[in-house]
This record gives sequence, structure tokens and C-alpha cells, in this order.
Amino acid sequence: ATMPPLLAAVANAGRHGVLVKSAVVLERLAGASVVALDKTGTLTEGRPAVAEIRVTSPGTLSEHDVLRLAAAVERGSEHPLGAAVVAAAVAAEIDLPPVTDFTARPGRGVTASVEGHRIDVGALDRLAPDAAGHAETAAAITDLEARGYTAVTVLRDGVPVAVLGVRDTVRGDAAAAVRGCAALTASPPVLLTGDNPRAARRVAEEVGVTEVRAGLLPEDKVAAVQELAGRGERVALVGDGVNDAPAMAAAHIGIAMGGAGSDVALETADAVVVRDELPAIPAVIALARRARRLVI
Ligand code: ADP
Ligand code: MG
Repeated sequence: ATMPPLLAAVANAGRHGVLVKSAVVLERLAGASVVALDKTGTLTEGRPAVAEIRVTSPGTLSEHDVLRLAAAVERGSEHPLGAAVVAAAVAAEIDLPPVTDFTARPGRGVTASVEGHRIDVGALDRLAPDAAGHAETAAAITDLEARGYTAVTVLRDGVPVAVLGVRDTVRGDAAAAVRGCAALTASPPVLLTGDNPRAARRVAEEVGVTEVRAGLLPEDKVAAVQELAGRGERVALVGDGVNDAPAMAAAHIGIAMGGAGSDVALETADAVVVRDELPAIPAVIALARRARRLVI
């Protein structure tokens, strides 16, 4: 028996590695005018690694202490940066103490109580703007970001004690996927990221994206999507994190990376890139357009 064309197209998308949740989604994919890409976990592999530890309050804590406290808190996180911090502690064979009162603040970082101290780990300007003037810490952040790292600050009882330099690898197929999207959509792809402008720029240059918006909180990603929509764009938003879910919901269509994608992102998305192969995105847009021609 032959399948109806739309159902056949849904099955075909599956063969390209994209799980499309309904036939309506194909219609929307076909209409996308711009692809907006998240950085961490989407254009990058999402397996960042801690490359440097800078203790910025000397005499109090060692690198070992910093990693132990930060990893204890990050153990509760589902963010790729959290996984990097935990992996560094595991590699150093550090036993992690238990924590209480864990909270994750998407786009900012994580907080918990460890051995009687409040420990925050994340983006200093978002987590503790009042502490952003700490000279040693500010200098370490500037230096690490200038070299393309994501600077993750560790605070103890509100005082910055260290900065971790974390680096992620750009996916090998990201540039090809960006070229593919650019060839299909009316407007070239844009990068929307919560990370710092310097790290964002480095990745954008590597993959061939020219429009970059960095330092975005989850609600800023929503605003960016709405602004594009206000200009008449139909945005296909590709992301992996809890921080991307609101923007996915606001977009014409939301696409989640399946591999390391958070549960919230997978649930919110209209389509999932199952094998984490980015060129599946332009492939499925092209397929959706062919299906639309067959149906209408
Ligand atoms: P992206 O948009 O690139 O995926 P996110 O919005 O998830 O980035 O995160 C933005 C920034 O918030 C990160 O670059 C980091 O500085 C900080 N951050 C968020 N979650 C964590 C965490 N669990 N540990 C450390 N830093 C975090
Ligand atoms: Mg992400």
C-alpha cells in the first residue's frame, strides 16, 4: 500500500534522523524563513572541558578545594557546563561532599549549600552582579574570555573565590549545516546564546554565522525570536537546553538536539534531531518543502 504523501514525508524525515512530532510540523518547517541556532550543545558538541582553574582569593582555597565545592553543586545540574565541572573532579579523583538546597537558575548558574557555606557556580554578572567588581576575578574572566573560554565563576558565601576556564569543541558538521540552512532560507542563520560575546564570536566565525546575539537570558532569547517575527521572519529555533525551551515555544517551530538535549527541550520542541547530526536540519527543511509541493 502507498502512504499518503504527508505521512510518507514524516517517515522520510525519520530516515534523515529528524523525529517530527506531527504532519503539521512539516508544513511549518517548509515555511521557515530563518534558522536561529543556540551555541552550547547545539553548534558545539556540548561536552565542554575544564581547561584552567584560577584561584582569585589566594590563601583561602586550593584548586582542589574549588573543584570539590563546584563539582558538588554542579552534580545536580543538567547543563553541559555542569557536566564539565563534575568530569574534572572525577578525573582528579575528588570525593564530592553532599549538598542541600540545590537550585538551578537557567542561563545563570547553580547554587547550593555545601558544608555550611553557600556556593554559587556560573556567570558572575548574572549570579552576583554586586560581586562583579572583584578585581582579581574580573581580570581572570576577561583573560579567559579573550582566549575563547567560557568563564565559570565559583563564589563562597557571595565572595568570588575562583574562575574556571571551560572550552567546548565546535561540531565537525556545524559549518556544513549553516551553509545548508543559508542556501534554503530567505535570511542567513543567526546565533542566539547565553554565553559571552567573545566565545560566541569565536564559534560564529568558525561555522560561518554573521549575526550573533550573546549574553542572552532565556527570556532574552524569547525577545530575540519575537523581534525577528516582528520583522516578518518565521523562525526555526534550534536548541538543546532548559534555557532554550521558552524561545522554542515562541518560535514558528522549535527543534531540539536529541543527544544531550534536556527533557524540557525535548518535550517543548516540535521536532528532534535524533542522532545530533546538524545537517539533518537543512535536509528536513528541504524535504518539508518537497512534501508541501506534493500535497498542495
Ligand atoms: P547557551 O545559550 O550557549 O546554551 P546557557 O543559556 O545555557 O548557554 O548558559 C548561559 C551562561 O550561563 C553560560 O555560558 C554560563 O556562564 C552560565 N551557566 C548556566 N548554567 C550553568 C551551570 N550549570 N554551571 C555554570 N555556568 C552556568
Ligand atoms: Mg545550549
